[in-house]
Amino acid sequence: MTQETPAYNNGVTPTCTLSVIVPAYNEEEVLPIFHQRLVAALAGVPGKCEVIYVDDGSTDRTAQLLGELHLVDPLVGVACFTRNFGKEEAMSAGLRLARGEAAVLIDADLQDPPELIPAMVQAWREGAEVVNMKRRSRGGETAFKKATAHAFYRVINKLSEVPIPEDVGDFRLLSRRAVDAMNQLPERGRFMKGLFAWIGFRQTTIEYDRDARAAGVSKWRYWRLWNFALDGITSFSTAPLKVATYVGMLSALGSFCYAFYFLFKTLTVGDPVKGFPTLIVVILLVGGLQLMATGVLGEYLGRMYIESKRRPLYLMYDYQAPSINNAESSTGSQGSN
Ligand code: UDP
Ligand code: MG
Repeated sequence: MTQETPAYNNGVTPTCTLSVIVPAYNEEEVLPIFHQRLVAALAGVPGKCEVIYVDDGSTDRTAQLLGELHLVDPLVGVACFTRNFGKEEAMSAGLRLARGEAAVLIDADLQDPPELIPAMVQAWREGAEVVNMKRRSRGGETAFKKATAHAFYRVINKLSEVPIPEDVGDFRLLSRRAVDAMNQLPERGRFMKGLFAWIGFRQTTIEYDRDARAAGVSKWRYWRLWNFALDGITSFSTAPLKVATYVGMLSALGSFCYAFYFLFKTLTVGDPVKGFPTLIVVILLVGGLQLMATGVLGEYLGRMYIESKRRPLYLMYDYQAPSINNAESSTGSQGSN
């Protein structure tokens, strides 16, 4: 093992080699096949593994299925949220519950093939602390989704101070140190792709072909994706605030020039009362710019308001820990939504 002794800065002593974290929201159709393929893939990983399923307030039988898996498979730990908090929150919960020397985040819908996990572990053994999985192709996704995703990465990379790798989703491996670093970030606005880039550490990238969803439907509608993109941009850049300033300055400068032009014209050739069109155009333009700038301010202010309430990121029923670790045994209610 080429890993140096990590500084465990949040006091977690690893009890197994690898934690696999799986956020699941209404995934009853795909869960059984997913678990089967995952367990088969984990056989290729040297050392003990645990699988942490985070049920993100599913309204179908996901929670029951996970409860059953926990009873029959000692690798399985299950956390159930009290409602749908979102994938970023589910991944954050998984990272806090993970007891492995490394953790892998993977979607439940088999778009990220579990068979790649041994290669990720290998890359970690060779010294990487974060193993990013880059999609060479995206199966089963519309041209529009691919184009908007591409545009999003371009915009955010222009604006953000830390480069966010394009086409790298949430499928990745983090070393214990990287997990501890993630767990120390206090913010509520959790744009995970940005946070993973922000923590730094030795990162490496493996390319793979992304499959289409095995069953069920995507939970990301375009409005949700748009809000997700806004979250990403506002949590990693203050550039839009500056844009408002510069656009304001430019328009003020333009107005000055225009004013001088009119002054000059009136003094030289005189000006009978005309100019209503110019007036209305200028009023609308300036009004629009002001509204836009206020809107940008509002986006940031709203997020500051949410952060300032300091609510917990998520609420969940008791964690049913995997029994391989036999440190904590399963307790409490079986959290079905
Ligand atoms: N997911 C979640 N909470 C949500 C939405 C999604 O935990 O509110 C999970 C979902 O169960 C899946 C993963 O996040 O394991 C990716 O979701 P999905 O496949 O719907 O997204 P896409 O691949 O279309 O981006
Ligand atoms: Mg998916």
